[in-house]
Amino acid sequence: MFFIGIFGIQDKDKYIGNCSNIECPSCGRLSMYEIHKVYRYFHIFFIPLFRWNVRYFVKTPCCGRLYELDPFVGREFEKNPGTEINRENLRQVNLPFRYCVNCKTEVPAEFSYCPYCGGKL
Ligand SMILES: [Zn+2]
Ligand SMILES: [Zn+2]
Repeated sequence: MFFIGIFGIQDKDKYIGNCSNIECPSCGRLSMYEIHKVYRYFHIFFIPLFRWNVRYFVKTPCCGRLYELDPFVGREFEKNPGTEINRENLRQVNLPFRYCVNCKTEVPAEFSYCPYCGGKL
């Protein structure tokens, strides 16, 4: 069997841009949205053949929250990076972990301090 690496299924997380000067829906600070597109694809010889399960996510770097973005708005944003993203288009994802603002490491949600850099979460 020599199929390993020739074809397979992979997940892709693609950063597609950001939207600055927004008020963070979680902590209220002046911040920005980082928009990511996440999809799963099937490839043969590293050539993606088709993709499915396309979803858009928004991260707020100020407090490390993650939101699922309305796919319609996500597609619009991809075509036109000036597209406005409203709070109503976002649905907060409750993660079992959070991102440390200082070192960007995933930390379990119940932690108050980052075990990697000691920063307050
Ligand atoms: Zn925030
Ligand atoms: Zn940290």
